[in-house]
Amino acid sequence: MKIALAADHGGIDIKNLLREALTRRQLTVEDLGPNSPASVDYPDFAQAVAKRVSSGSADEGILVCTTGIGMSIAANRYPHVRAALCLTPVMAERARTHNNANVLVLGGGFLTPDQALAILDQWLKSSFSNEARHARRIAKIDSAPCGDLATTTIESTDPAVYAAIQREAARQQDTIGLIASENYVSRAVREAQGSVLTNKYAEGYPGKRWYNGCAYVDEVEQLAIDRAKAIFGAEHVNVQPHSGSGANIGVYLAVLKPGDTIFAMSLAHGGHLTHGHELNLSGRLYKIAAYGVQPGTEILDYDEIERQAVAARPRLIVAGASAYPRLIDFPRFRAIADRVGALLMVDMAHIAGLVAGGAHPSPFPHADLVTTTTHKTLRGPRGGMILCREQFAADIDKSIFPGSQGGPLMHTVASKAVCFGEVLQPSFKTYAHQVVRNAQAMATTLQTRGCRIVSGGTDNHMLLVDLSNKNITGKEAAADLEKVGIILNKNVIPFDKKSPFVTSGIRIGTPGTTTRGLGETESTRLAHLIVDTLENRGDEAHLKRVAAEVLALAHRFPAP
Ligand code: PLP
Repeated sequence: MKIALAADHGGIDIKNLLREALTRRQLTVEDLGPNSPASVDYPDFAQAVAKRVSSGSADEGILVCTTGIGMSIAANRYPHVRAALCLTPVMAERARTHNNANVLVLGGGFLTPDQALAILDQWLKSSFSNEARHARRIAKIDSAPCGDLATTTIESTDPAVYAAIQREAARQQDTIGLIASENYVSRAVREAQGSVLTNKYAEGYPGKRWYNGCAYVDEVEQLAIDRAKAIFGAEHVNVQPHSGSGANIGVYLAVLKPGDTIFAMSLAHGGHLTHGHELNLSGRLYKIAAYGVQPGTEILDYDEIERQAVAARPRLIVAGASAYPRLIDFPRFRAIADRVGALLMVDMAHIAGLVAGGAHPSPFPHADLVTTTTHKTLRGPRGGMILCREQFAADIDKSIFPGSQGGPLMHTVASKAVCFGEVLQPSFKTYAHQVVRNAQAMATTLQTRGCRIVSGGTDNHMLLVDLSNKNITGKEAAADLEKVGIILNKNVIPFDKKSPFVTSGIRIGTPGTTTRGLGETESTRLAHLIVDTLENRGDEAHLKRVAAEVLALAHRFPAP
């Protein structure tokens, strides 16, 4: 039997005494420290022992601190660890026979050496009684989730991946994320994503699957569908697209023939690759006509869009963008589509959370078909979704399965359901409106510091900053900001003279910072820190102060 042993400064003497006693009994002992009486943090040592017991690399553990309480609390967060604080031999016997304890915890400040040895002796002599009532109770304890589900097993089975995940987790906590298409999901959303549903094949739809054993994943998918319908007021929902791109391609497959014309926002003015980029399936299979914003205002001009639509005679009009900071007029797009006899698809990937929370006008009931990602302002797992009128339901479902996908990712579908449950809470409305207020606070502050904001401001979760007058490219700005812990992306601005690899602009989004709890005061400060960084290039002392303030802000507002 292998026993992992550790203490803190309050338990080191007893720990050393126990190590000698265990060695005398010829048991294998891994002494995890500490080796000096200097003050240490007890969770570090409790966790070292608990991880070994949890993963099976040690059979049992022993922990000693002054009271034994902190060690017990820290160790019991790990799956399969049952740490018991024992102050008498009788308690040790009960902890074994009744509770099947596998980590003995001692309070070194309350025990003489002889008492500690007597407890150890009783602990080693005792074992689980296996009586039904005790076994039932242990099973109930073990069935409850504990600790951070994501990583305890990976740490022992795949240290390389574990280390990378831990570094990414630290990066997220230590930086401020302002990428407009990203967010921080809840632990509940992450738990569903990491669940056993990843094991299940479920080609088809609820009640009509090609595989057996789908009763429970059917329940999950139906919950996701019903909740999405309730949020958006859609007639039909398909929650299976693996991504936003997959959702868009699904619509095109359902309602277009190769060679048909799509009329969508130009990529250079804020559209998405799936709206007709020449290398994307959309640009390769279909004819693309593009509309953009007007020079001067940098805002969509619906009269001009209508004129262009009349000339292009598209089969499908796509409204929606990846980088457009203003409201989109969906009733006007509907009228244009009706005038030219086109279908209207809205790609609300960026603004879905704002629509759900009432902070942006809804594309329903104006659009025939609506696509979205679930991971941006909607704050769910990475994935896509299609919502449509009933008349398109069968064609849409066929175009996703079997048209463009095989088995749905049921763990992701479950995670979408959990996300939609969160979106239906009243607090999500507050969140969505705060996202917009934070973006507006940043835009105003940046303007007062001399930055030009594309279109003069923002109505949604993002803003585009034109850095032309700051003598720095978007690429350089994003790299400099990363060095002080502010993470965003370079972005072309409308009529940009620079290439998409360099750009004149940066894109800033507030979905993530708002999730972390930043309000307008902190968003304003963040905007100042951005300008301070860009205006003090090369001043290492200044940038060090900015980085320290960004880190403090990140730690004050931890990600979930
Ligand atoms: N549509 C829009 C408007 C987007 O901004 C994006 C992604 O940024 C997508 C579709 C594609 O989403 P995904 O990356 O999940 O394929």
